[in-house]
Amino acid sequence: MPKQISPFHSKDSKVYHIYGVCSSGKGVKKRVKGTGGRKLCKACKDIKAGKRTH
Ligand SMILES: [Zn+2]
Repeated sequence: MPKQISPFHSKDSKVYHIYGVCSSGKGVKKRVKGTGGRKLCKACKDIKAGKRTH
């Protein structure tokens, strides 16, 4: 199970991430701390549910 990190998001994205291994989150160049009032990323949600590992 991947380790959860503190939430981060990108200014030009509508989602936030909670996993450093998230394939979508990895593409975020300028990470902004916090959820930013956004929705949890689909991949991160699946990682949390144990459906995928990255
Ligand atoms: Zn994510």
